[in-house]
Amino acid sequence: MTIFEKIASREIPADIVFEADDFLAFRDVRPQAPVHVLIIPKRCIPRIDVATGDDVALLGRMLGAAPKIAQLCGVAESGYRLVINNGRDAGESVPHLHIHLLGGRALHWPPG
Ligand code: AMP
Repeated sequence: MTIFEKIASREIPADIVFEADDFLAFRDVRPQAPVHVLIIPKRCIPRIDVATGDDVALLGRMLGAAPKIAQLCGVAESGYRLVINNGRDAGESVPHLHIHLLGGRALHWPPG
C-alpha cells in the first residue's frame, strides 16, 4: 500500500481539503508554497506514464476539480500551478499519481 492509499483509507491522517468518491485533495506535509495541495486518485495509479484509457475519466475529474479546490484554498483569483512529477528527473518521490496544486505566492518559471 502506498502512503497515499493509507491517507485515502484514513489509516494515516492528512489535512483533507476536498473529497470525491474516487479522488481526494489534502495539504502537502512539506509545502513549497503557502498553498500546496495534492490531488490523488483513491485507487493507486503509480504515475502518469502507466495510466491507461481506463484512468482517463478519473484523471479528467481530478483536473476538473482543481479550480474548485483552488477556490476553497483562496488562490483561484491570484493564480496557481498544477504539476505532475513523473520519474526520477522530475523528482517523483511517491509512486502514487498526484497533481500538485501550488499557489499563494509568485511562482518562478522555468521551475528549478
Ligand atoms: P512528488 O515528489 O511529486 O512524488 O511529491 C510527493 C509529495 O508528497 C511531496 O511534496 C511530499 O512532501 C508529499 N508527502 C509525502 N508524504 C506525505 C504525507 N504523509 N502527507 C502529505 N504529503 C506528503
